[in-house]
Amino acid sequence: REQRQPVLITGSTSGIGLAIAHAMAEAGYPVMLHGIMWPEEGEILASEFRDRYGVDCGISTADIDSEAGCAQLAADTREALGNPSVLVNNAGVQFTADAHHFPIEQWQRILSINLSAAFYLSRDLLPGMRDGNWGRIVNISSVHGLVASEQKAAYCAAKHGLIGLTRVLALENADRGVTANAICPGWVETPLIQPQIERIASDENLDIETARAQLIGAKQPMPKATSPEAIAGLVLYLCGQYADTITGAALPVDGGWTAQ
Ligand code: NAD
Repeated sequence: REQRQPVLITGSTSGIGLAIAHAMAEAGYPVMLHGIMWPEEGEILASEFRDRYGVDCGISTADIDSEAGCAQLAADTREALGNPSVLVNNAGVQFTADAHHFPIEQWQRILSINLSAAFYLSRDLLPGMRDGNWGRIVNISSVHGLVASEQKAAYCAAKHGLIGLTRVLALENADRGVTANAICPGWVETPLIQPQIERIASDENLDIETARAQLIGAKQPMPKATSPEAIAGLVLYLCGQYADTITGAALPVDGGWTAQ
């Protein structure tokens, strides 16, 4: 296996981020794990990665709801693995309500974790990528970065904003071998979508399977969720040799949702 550059994946203790971490470690990249979990649990997860894949692996449990938390995460990463050349901004949260009832603290939390954190970390890590004339920024946006759904004012605003940020980073770093792309998943089966399934089940008195099918079918022509591993495969491709000139793209993986 050739020598790989260190990778930081935010929100990689669960769902899509965890699948990305597995795929990158399996391909030989040193991986910085990150997410909200007890530090002791985090150490166990990191040592499982080291044992299973034979790569360097660190873990940070910094809360990236603030600029200081993002600086902490960048510092933890440098201490564990050195300067990362791949940054996957994946951590994200959801809250649903009509805009005219939307709690202000949820608006601020979603904008801060889903959008500002990606800016703070890119700002911090880009100089290292530019110096090395190689880097990859992959932002996990959403179909809600491209189109809207009701009750998702903060999420849609943040995810649209993340695509805008991606495009600017692509332009500014095009001369330094650094690409920036956004991935825009439709439904992916992870803990993030469980509250939405449970809400349909209780509002409409349905069992969980029927509620899940209803949630997916409401917007997505293909009646199945994308696997976290499929998103991970695309991240791996974007880091590989054939993706050198893919930059500034917003790539849907959405079962046809945004084709309509
Ligand atoms: P998830 O809830 O399974 O995982 C979220 C991760 O982010 C966890 O590791 C969690 O610890 C971390 N995190 C959350 N808040 C944090 C904070 N303040 N500080 C540090 N870490 C924090 O979610 P997921 O479904 O895997 O989502 C990953 C990304 O994919 C998100 O950006 C989400 O918006 C996006 N996405 C998900 C779907 C879907 O259907 N699941 C669809 C489109 C886009």
